[in-house]
Amino acid sequence: MAINLDHRHKPLDGDLLLTAACPIECDFCVYSCEAEKEPEKWMPEKTIRRVAEQYSKNGIGIRIGGGEPFYDLEKLRNCIKILMEYYKPNELLIITSGFFGADKENANKHLNAIKGFGFDTLIISADRFHLKRVPLKNIENIIECCKELGIEPVLRISIDSDSYEFIDKITEIIAKNKASIEVHDWGSFGRAEKLDKNPLGNFTKDQEYFFSKLKEFAGKFNAPLDPRFYLAHTAKRSQNKYASDFFPTTFPNGNVYGCSMTMKGSYLGNINKEDLSDMMVKWKEHFAGKP
Ligand code: SF4
Repeated sequence: MAINLDHRHKPLDGDLLLTAACPIECDFCVYSCEAEKEPEKWMPEKTIRRVAEQYSKNGIGIRIGGGEPFYDLEKLRNCIKILMEYYKPNELLIITSGFFGADKENANKHLNAIKGFGFDTLIISADRFHLKRVPLKNIENIIECCKELGIEPVLRISIDSDSYEFIDKITEIIAKNKASIEVHDWGSFGRAEKLDKNPLGNFTKDQEYFFSKLKEFAGKFNAPLDPRFYLAHTAKRSQNKYASDFFPTTFPNGNVYGCSMTMKGSYLGNINKEDLSDMMVKWKEHFAGKP
């Protein structure tokens, strides 16, 4: 088996939120994204360049997210062009809702936009909230088109105790397509804070159900039964040794938040005005437990 150097081999990774616009408007969206495409919701090219300069200087890979980064293909292409002056395509990731996958022609149009730059991985969010607005047929179409184009589709799946109906459906798709997955519980921030019920429950139990269903469908489709076959780690943060390890998120206006798996993001400064290395020192200095 060949092991390629990619995003995961950077010491850290971070998010670049290309836009705060998203046509899906999920009920739980951590960034409270809405569909309107006002110009101020998009990261200007000079800020994209600053993120590329500052992240690359500090050994940080980039995951392009939003909002929905595919919502304006021209802006996505321009963003990638700038990032490619600092990164190889396999050091970059993109995460999408899959809104463009209703038919294969449209799916291919969007996927070709990144394939043209040499991207080999695409992360697709899938959970019960997305499912209300992004049909599973979209996800299946995108998985099939990705495979035809030589892009590895990785489903980023969030589950909770209300997800069992969703789990029954998505595990069939995963087994049928031998698709790669990451399984998470929820980050209960942003619009999620307004939900009647906090989508956090017994993740261990929910995960056990998920993998039992996956195994059941794997048997039906003659696919590998071992869940480890399907598990991927696209982002460095999921491999971090300590849950408190830092990763930065830069918003379209240049504001940088320091995040970790255990802490809600804290504002560190604006990347247009400050160097990321100074912000990282600030993050460490304000860490709980530091005298
Ligand atoms: S698809 Fe993602 S960015 Fe869009 S509303 Fe849902 S969670 Fe937010």
